[in-house]
Amino acid sequence: MTEIPESFSLAEALQAADQTRCLEIGAGVIGAAPRVFRQQFGQRPAIIVADLNTFPAAGQAVAEAFRAAGHPMLEPFLFRVPDLHAEHSHVEELESVLRPHSAIAVAVGSGTINDMTKLASHRLERPYLCVATAASMDGYTAYGASITFEGSKQTFFCPAPAAVVADLDVIRAAPGLMNSWGYADLLAKVPAGADWMLADALGLDPIDRRAWAMVQSRLRDFVADPAGIRDRSPATTSRLIEGLMLGGFAMQASKSTRVASGAEHLFSHLWDMQHHTHNGAAPSHGFKVGIGTLASTALHERLLASPLEQLDVEACCAAWPSLDAWLARAREWLGAGNLLGVATREFSAKYPTAAQLREQLLRIKAHWPDLRERLRAQLLPLDALRRMLREAGAPVDPEEIGIDRRRLRQAFWQASLIRNRFVVLDLAVRTGSLDACMDHIFGPDGLWPIRE
Ligand SMILES: [Zn+2]
Repeated sequence: MTEIPESFSLAEALQAADQTRCLEIGAGVIGAAPRVFRQQFGQRPAIIVADLNTFPAAGQAVAEAFRAAGHPMLEPFLFRVPDLHAEHSHVEELESVLRPHSAIAVAVGSGTINDMTKLASHRLERPYLCVATAASMDGYTAYGASITFEGSKQTFFCPAPAAVVADLDVIRAAPGLMNSWGYADLLAKVPAGADWMLADALGLDPIDRRAWAMVQSRLRDFVADPAGIRDRSPATTSRLIEGLMLGGFAMQASKSTRVASGAEHLFSHLWDMQHHTHNGAAPSHGFKVGIGTLASTALHERLLASPLEQLDVEACCAAWPSLDAWLARAREWLGAGNLLGVATREFSAKYPTAAQLREQLLRIKAHWPDLRERLRAQLLPLDALRRMLREAGAPVDPEEIGIDRRRLRQAFWQASLIRNRFVVLDLAVRTGSLDACMDHIFGPDGLWPIRE
């Protein structure tokens, strides 16, 4: 068995990744884009893909660098839609632009441009280069693209970019709160790690130690200076992008999002599937995940306060509803549309029979004293998380992203149904304690009191 390092540098993570071969991070590295391109793709022509914001922010400088290097380059392709989203129709448009020639795309942008270029290039069997313009999410170095198709956001499997160039000067100048979005997406890996510990303890999803080390070993350090995110501190922004890239490499290496995504992401996915908007636009992925991080941690804290070592396993099993009863509840909570179809597929796949439930709960009961200590060591306290998110400029109350508290309370149940992945929500559901936990979280002394 090969030794797994306790922590990973970016260079080591890059070695472990099998799709991305080069990552350049630093102030002013945008000028290195033509060299990186040539190393990967030789003399093949390049075509910049950008939008009306990212072209002036960085695309222009990339184009000038290619011209100065004398590298063949086609006319840049710009998405001219003012409020660009990762829609499948745009991917098809990009494919039709790329198809007539053999140029390699240089995606200049953040999540939207990168994901659309990733999928379009993959469908044309071409690699691509990514020039990151914001530390807004962890998807640059991840495999897979998140694209809205037939009205719902879906993950399309496609390889990560062959190379990524992340110029810290460009990223520090990213518009508005984009880097705060990325900060919240990075902070989410704290409760996501705790969720993985639970699934591992139940034998449902064993921890991949290499992917774990990439994401978790230096996470505390990466999130330690939230005010520096808002103030665009060079050192803090550098740590943020490093943490996000490591998350992407871990997903690339493990071919799963488990390492970077737990219950907190389910809240965000739920609101995506419900097409939630606030003030006319969908809140950012990071800010939805930030509220999910607080919600997930609040639930973890309630369970940590519960004496699960004394759990009445037989009573839990006797009260466990049949799958049909669960699916009837799902219809009541999610309506009869697309979401019900998702829940029927995903929840049925993770539904334990009473015998399986008994085995899981006996395991939790036996391991709880030790597991509780490990979870405590993994999690950050709720008040610290709130302060950190606030200092980074991120929302800490659901109303700030247009979700009222009653809707958030309902989201705990809804989110537990939409993905075949064991997270803290499932522990609360299977131990029959979710409602009691929420009575506290939304009660007078809880995180988000609901006033009558
Ligand atoms: Zn995320």
